Amino acid sequence: MPLSFLFPPARLASLVALACLSQTVHAGAPAGAAGASEQTRSNNAAVLGQRPFANDADYAAVSRGLIAPFKGQVVDARGKPIWNLANYDFLNQKDSPASVNPSLWRLAQLNTHAGLFEVVPGLYQVRGLDLANMTLIEGDDGLIIIDPLTSAETARAALDLYYQNRPRKPVVAVIYSHTHTDHFGGVRGVIDEADVKAGKVKVLAPSGFMEHVMSENVYAGNAMSRRAQYQFGLYLPQGEQGQVDAAIGKAVAIGGTITLIEPTDLISQPYETRRIAGVDIEFQLTPGTEAPSEMNVYLPGLKALGIAENASQTMHNILTPRGAQVRDAKAWSQYLDASLNRYGDKTDVLFGQHNWPTWGAEPVRTLLADQRDMYAFLNDRTLHLLNQGLTPMEIAQNMQTLPGELKNKWYNQGYYGSLSHNSRAVYQRYMGFYDGNPANLNPLPPVESARLYVEAMGGGEAVLGKVKAAMDKGEYRWAAQLGNQLVFAEPDNTKARALQAQSLEQLGYQSENANWRNIYLTGAMELRNGVPDSPGSSVSVDMVRALTPQMFFDYLAVRVDVDKAVGHDMNLNWRFSEPDKAFNLTLRNGVLTHREGLNPKADAGLTMSKATLEQISLKQLDFPTAMQKGLIKVEGNGKKIVELLGTLDTFSPQFNIVTP
Ligand SMILES: [Zn+2]
Repeated sequence: MPLSFLFPPARLASLVALACLSQTVHAGAPAGAAGASEQTRSNNAAVLGQRPFANDADYAAVSRGLIAPFKGQVVDARGKPIWNLANYDFLNQKDSPASVNPSLWRLAQLNTHAGLFEVVPGLYQVRGLDLANMTLIEGDDGLIIIDPLTSAETARAALDLYYQNRPRKPVVAVIYSHTHTDHFGGVRGVIDEADVKAGKVKVLAPSGFMEHVMSENVYAGNAMSRRAQYQFGLYLPQGEQGQVDAAIGKAVAIGGTITLIEPTDLISQPYETRRIAGVDIEFQLTPGTEAPSEMNVYLPGLKALGIAENASQTMHNILTPRGAQVRDAKAWSQYLDASLNRYGDKTDVLFGQHNWPTWGAEPVRTLLADQRDMYAFLNDRTLHLLNQGLTPMEIAQNMQTLPGELKNKWYNQGYYGSLSHNSRAVYQRYMGFYDGNPANLNPLPPVESARLYVEAMGGGEAVLGKVKAAMDKGEYRWAAQLGNQLVFAEPDNTKARALQAQSLEQLGYQSENANWRNIYLTGAMELRNGVPDSPGSSVSVDMVRALTPQMFFDYLAVRVDVDKAVGHDMNLNWRFSEPDKAFNLTLRNGVLTHREGLNPKADAGLTMSKATLEQISLKQLDFPTAMQKGLIKVEGNGKKIVELLGTLDTFSPQFNIVTP
């Protein structure tokens, strides 16, 4: 998760807190939800003939090596649940209801298996206590943990479950496989920073870890958080008409404490080895794959390959729907091939940081080859078609299935990524957002074009009739496109909103992709009930501390409202004590830039400690109070600083998506 993951650090905690609310308030179906239509019922029934349901080997694999199931809840310090698998009891029924795609139902059942599992003797996983897995390697005199989940609470619960069933050896090393929050956020639940500082515990990570943890999520963080609410269905109740799964796990653990301890040992060569607690480990760096900074681990003593998030039991995302920089399908494919080539004939088990492992030398090689081919196909076929002149939606429509045997493998299905989004992502990587058609060079924005479309189609009532007709024929994609025009032209038209909610809902019920289902159903819910309130934000202290001054200034520049800032040109020196670092900021034409060093001719200067900046970022302190207390020292024209602060906007976390 890629919670990608996933998540903008500063906003994660808040969106998560709010999701927690929704989890406890609602149960069953979203308010106003309708059942599956006849068309949806029959489309979903048809899926049974389109996927390899006769192959049910994954049901055995997912419970193989079970030592202790996990049944309960994980609660925070105040006793509030942040993880509750009982919400998924509805998945116990064997056959899928009409409101869930049977293929997604299958995966949702598999992902509900939670507990402590033996992968092979000496290698264990806690699965189903968070979006990702925690992997534990038993050394001679200590324990090595790969990926301590999203929050300290779930990570602590996972380690407790392990200790209840295995010898209580101390944790001597934590390995972060990559930069997404679901793979490091719980680190303080399993180790103490004092032990890291004392050299008793190592923290290993791929090169570039800290930079990417922050930069991937900070600048567009507010919008990513809002869209993540859709992708993970964070406000949806769990149920047959609500959230059923997140493809790479059940859901995001919500409301917990996201933590971070800086790595002590960075892997920077393509392959590096370490011996930790008597265990030999080879690391394989895979930069620019599922995350900008990521690595696999190979355990020669156990003939086990840890594939991080580079392979899983689903097609992954080249571009995640919550928004992110586009990934490189070609590099992803090449690194999977390198893993296959280097470890393929000396691996008996493949374990990932999501879903369940794959046992047996031949099945492991086949999975690696299949997923290598899948990502290469995404890259090459998209380029093939765009070179023939096809545009993004034409390519997506053309790439409905994987070629050859690839389409018959469960782990290649589009549960998390999709052929439709991934092919368009590859187009975006090579060609950008413009499709080359001059009619699309400078189109009217949504509201203006919607008003004109509705007028051209004979007005609101006429469009409503056309939407209804499309829905009666089960043409939900068309109904949703048409209905969207009407909602954007007439946002107060309750009939239009209700119909649009129904068409999105049927699309959600039919989706094999867990993200798509969550997105459609969240859209339907907001059309009916409006945008949920924000609970206010609580920020991850560790994440704020990890923000560099440069990132702070970059984000300050993002917050500047250019209209307020024009006419307030200024030059400021901004110095941090402990550690001593100096910056010079220029506000010119409403645009804020910065560089390292001081300018002797600056209008004003201020000096503060990094700790003061952190307190301000955490909203434990405001600027004027800090100045009064002498925590910020000002030289020159102090009014300039007040002027700069006056240009800053605060972003609303709950902006509209399905309405203007
Ligand atoms: Zn992940």
